[in-house]
Amino acid sequence: MLTDTQKPDLYDLSREALGALLASWGAPRTLTLELWHALYRQWVTGFEALPLPEALRVRLAAELRWHIPHVSDRLEAPDSATRKDLLELADGQRVEVVLLRYRQRRSACISTQVGCACGCVFCATGGMGFVRQLTPGEIVAQVLHFQRELAAQGESLSNLVLMGMGEPFLNYENTVAALRQLLDPQGLGFPPRRITVSTAGIVPGIRRFAEEGLGINLAISLHAATDELRERLMPINQRYPLGTLFEAARAYAARTGRRVMLEWALIAGVNDSPAQAEALVAQVAELPAHINLILLNPTPAYPEHPATPEAVADFTAVLDAAKIPHTMRQRRGSAIAAGCGQLRAQGR
Ligand code: SAH
Ligand code: SF4
Repeated sequence: MLTDTQKPDLYDLSREALGALLASWGAPRTLTLELWHALYRQWVTGFEALPLPEALRVRLAAELRWHIPHVSDRLEAPDSATRKDLLELADGQRVEVVLLRYRQRRSACISTQVGCACGCVFCATGGMGFVRQLTPGEIVAQVLHFQRELAAQGESLSNLVLMGMGEPFLNYENTVAALRQLLDPQGLGFPPRRITVSTAGIVPGIRRFAEEGLGINLAISLHAATDELRERLMPINQRYPLGTLFEAARAYAARTGRRVMLEWALIAGVNDSPAQAEALVAQVAELPAHINLILLNPTPAYPEHPATPEAVADFTAVLDAAKIPHTMRQRRGSAIAAGCGQLRAQGR
């Protein structure tokens, strides 16, 4: 008999795996689809709510576990537009998920790891170090958490960003398995173009992801356009310097026909100079890219400040002159430490 933590979680199973399991118990094929719909279209939360004959339900409950992460802490911005939930996993570890409400869109920012091994100096998650990988089911469960709640209010999630805690491409298999589950037209059927995966620049991951053919947007956290500066901000740059990173980004764009998003948190006196903007222009010369600028969100362990409006204007003027498309991402959630890079397992 497997102990509870050794059993696979119901959310960890792909539709194929679930079908194979039920078939091995002699269940008719159609049951898999009904079960899948209950899980990913009705977002039910207990074995007793599954549309299965009693004997099968009992067997499923005995052989699998099914953890619905519960909210152990919640922080809501005063305008209710941003909310951060701390979700407790089966082993007591906690991950943060953020719901961003825009006029039209409802966007969820979800995590792929507990902690992160990359150690970017400006990022609170990086400061925790790596704790453990999330399973596919634990990634999927974060999305269902919000979807369930929004549906009860007659709304639904429109966008998904994998920009919470962790580096998705250092948990590659589980992240891609989760994405496939979220994309499944028989389940949540999330449109791939409304999903963005953000990586700190794990080159083998970018190359592999290009071959998956999922049609999902790729964002690369760049933050610096010279190796010298990027190494200081993001240690991962020593392993995958800008030359190899941009080569992989170009291959991704060529393979998928999609623009690559480049994330750049403007830090006063660090990476907000016109010289860095010019280096960026040079780097993106042959890459269909869109630059997503954001102001540095304050974190306790990093003493630097966000760029001033003047510095931002000078920086963007260089991009404009070179006709590089860019947007300044709205700063959201920083008041409740739910902004980019502010997520930490400890919560407040
Ligand atoms: N590990 C992945 C995804 C999670 S981080 C990655 O690094 O891309 C999500 C985004 O927040 C990244 O673009 C990251 O560089 C950015 N970020 C981290 N700390 C930040 C901070 N203090 N201010 C603004 N953005 C930050
Ligand atoms: Fe990890 Fe991304 Fe934070 Fe860097 S920015 S430490 S890769 S979560």
